[in-house]
Amino acid sequence: MADNVENICPQCSSLLSWKDHGYFCDFCQQQVEKHVFCPDCNEQLERLQACGSASYFCNHCNELKSKSRVKVQFEMRAETR
Ligand SMILES: [Zn+2]
Ligand SMILES: [Zn+2]
Repeated sequence: MADNVENICPQCSSLLSWKDHGYFCDFCQQQVEKHVFCPDCNEQLERLQACGSASYFCNHCNELKSKSRVKVQFEMRAETR
C-alpha cells in the first residue's frame, strides 16, 4: 500500500504545496488546513511527532491511531481580514 497520501486542494483538486508550516494552494492562493479524524469515533486527532514519524492520538478513545487508518480532510482556511 502506498504510504504517500496526496495532498489535494478541496476546491480545485490541484496538488498542495508546503508553505509557512501549512499547506498552501498555489492555484487558489489560499492556505489549506489539514484535519485528521479518528477512524473509530470521528473525533479530531492530536498529532504527535515521535522520532521523525508522525502518529496520531485520539483523546476520545485514549489511544494511538495508525497513520494509515486515520481520515484526512482538507479545508480552505477562511480569510480573516
Ligand atoms: Zn486550490
Ligand atoms: Zn477515537
